[in-house]
Amino acid sequence: MKSILFACSLFFSLNCCAQMHIDDQFPGGNVILENISGDTVYFKPDLTGTEGNWFYWNFQATSTKPQTWYFKSTKKNTMTGLGAAYSEDGGYNWMWIDQKDNLGPDLFAFTFTKPNQTIQFSFAQPYTQNNFEHFIQSHIGDNRLKQSIFCQSNQGRPVEKILISNFDIKPSFKILFLARAHACEMMSNYLIEGMINNLLSDSPEMVELLNKAEIMIIPFLDKDGVENGDQGKNRIPRDHNRDYSGTSIYATTRTIREEIPKWVGGLPWIGIDLHNPWIKGEHNEWAYMVGNANPDIEAQQRIFAQIMAENRKGPLKFDIEHGLLEYGTAWNKGSNYEKGEPFNAWAAQYFDKGLRLTTTIEFPYALNHGQEVTAQNAREFGKDLIRATAIYIENLDE
Ligand SMILES: [Zn+2]
Repeated sequence: MKSILFACSLFFSLNCCAQMHIDDQFPGGNVILENISGDTVYFKPDLTGTEGNWFYWNFQATSTKPQTWYFKSTKKNTMTGLGAAYSEDGGYNWMWIDQKDNLGPDLFAFTFTKPNQTIQFSFAQPYTQNNFEHFIQSHIGDNRLKQSIFCQSNQGRPVEKILISNFDIKPSFKILFLARAHACEMMSNYLIEGMINNLLSDSPEMVELLNKAEIMIIPFLDKDGVENGDQGKNRIPRDHNRDYSGTSIYATTRTIREEIPKWVGGLPWIGIDLHNPWIKGEHNEWAYMVGNANPDIEAQQRIFAQIMAENRKGPLKFDIEHGLLEYGTAWNKGSNYEKGEPFNAWAAQYFDKGLRLTTTIEFPYALNHGQEVTAQNAREFGKDLIRATAIYIENLDE
C-alpha cells in the first residue's frame, strides 16, 4: 500500500450515470489516478523510488452501475501484449481481459455487469503474501516442508523461508530458489507454486530428489516492495538484485550473503534466481536463462537449458535457441551491473568450491512464444523446472 500521501481514491459523478471509484489501498496496490472523464479512467503507475521508466500498476475499480469503462494509461509501455489482467475475487484468481477489449498499447475496456462491482486490474497477475498464505495452507502439516522466517525485512516484515526435503535422510545436495528481488516480478511465484506442488507430489522422481537434496525457497526477497506495491526494479539507490557487492543495504540480501554459505555447509549446490523481463517485445515474450559472465558457468547453463527443452511436459514452450541469452548479447552486458552485483555474480564466486550451477531465469509476464501465460501453465512450467533440476543433478552423478 502507498502512504496516504500517494493515495489515489476518488469518487466521480458521471452525470446521471455510473460512478467510478479507484482504490490502491491494499497489499500490492499501486496507481496514480490522473482523471476520470466521461467513461474513461486516466491513470499511470506510481514509480516513486524508481529510477527511469517501468510499468507496475495494480488497482481496484468499482462501478456503481453496470456499464463499459475505458482505462487509459497516460504513460507508454505499461501494458503487455494481452493488455491487462483482472481479478473478481480480490486478487486470488486472475484472467487476461477479453482480447476484443485490448484496444491498443495503452488502452483497454472492461464491462462491469453488476451494480457496485469491484474488479482488480493490473498489467499482469499480482501475487502477494496473501496469495502465498492461501496456497501454502494445503501443504501445512506435510513433514517434508518446513516454513520459517529467513529474516526481518528492512521495514520489519517476516521474509519467509521454505525448506523441502526428506528430513529423515542427511542431504548430499542443496538447491536454492529465490524470487521477487524485483518486487513487480510476480509471475515467478506461480512457478514456485508449481515447484512446491511437484516436490510434494510423491512422484518417484521427486521422492528421489527429496532423498538426496534439501531445497530452500525464498518466495519474496523484496517483501516490503511486494506488500507496499512498489515497482522494486531499478529502486533508488540500488535494487535488491544489485545489492550483492559492497555493504548490502537490504536485510534479505545481507542475510543471503551471510547464511547461505553456512546452510550449504560444503555440499554441492545450485542457486536459481527467478525473474520476469521487460513488459513486451523481443527477449521479453519467451522464457530464458541469463548467461553468466563466467563461461564455465554459462556452459552449465546451456546443459540445464537443454535438459529443460528436452524434458518439458507442460504446455509452455522452451527451446534451446531462445532459452539462453549469452553473456555479452542484448542487455546482458557488464554495463547493466554498474550499481552492484546481482545474485548470480555473487554465487559465481563459489563455482568450483561447491557451486555447480547458478542461473537467472526470466519468465515472461503475458506471452511466451505467442502462447498466453496463465497462472496454471506457469505452475506447469515450475513443475518442469524442478524436474529439470532433478535430472541435472542426476546427470552430475554419472
Ligand atoms: Zn528482475
